Amino acid sequence: MSGCPRVPYVTAFEGEAVSYQVAFVADAEATDGVRLSYTDATAHDWMFGVLWHRQGLSRAGRPLWKLVNTARQRRCMLRLLCQVCGRSAVDGGRIWWLLPEPPGVAVDGRPFTHAPPTCRSCIPAARVWCPRLGSESYVYTVCGSEPYGVVADVYRPAAGRKVGAIRRAVEVPLEAFRLLEYAVAMQLLVKLDGLQRADL
Ligand SMILES: [Zn+2]
Repeated sequence: MSGCPRVPYVTAFEGEAVSYQVAFVADAEATDGVRLSYTDATAHDWMFGVLWHRQGLSRAGRPLWKLVNTARQRRCMLRLLCQVCGRSAVDGGRIWWLLPEPPGVAVDGRPFTHAPPTCRSCIPAARVWCPRLGSESYVYTVCGSEPYGVVADVYRPAAGRKVGAIRRAVEVPLEAFRLLEYAVAMQLLVKLDGLQRADL
């Protein structure tokens, strides 16, 4: 087995897969009068105006080292939790953040990322053991973050409101309302404020 000596908090497990069926449904408030939904959707399936991928939280079965659990990734982003240990990544008023590559640039010019924070004490091990966070990764602290968008699968409607082609892993800003109505979000993207390179 390769990867981290312990399974990071955000890593998905085989036993967490949930099968679901998406469908286009009429929605008078949607831009085109239709939006993507689950055939048995509840209010909990939406956040930030987008439908979210369903996944369990059991951590059962084999870890899927290259995949993140959608609910745990979102929780890390919203609560500033470490993606490795799941505890707070806030230290001395700043948030420790390890980026596997330089951050993206949002529409307003601010940096954004799909990677949740990594607490100070997990950073050395993460850089050694996690392939995505190698020695080329960048250690930062930030003073704040806010939701910016989602990494999503975007569905195209076919004739008769059938679900057509899917574009995978598209970065969609939260202000792209129309695109969000056709999307299933897999990960939350956040903008980073006061980004500073840091030494451990
Ligand atoms: Zn940690």
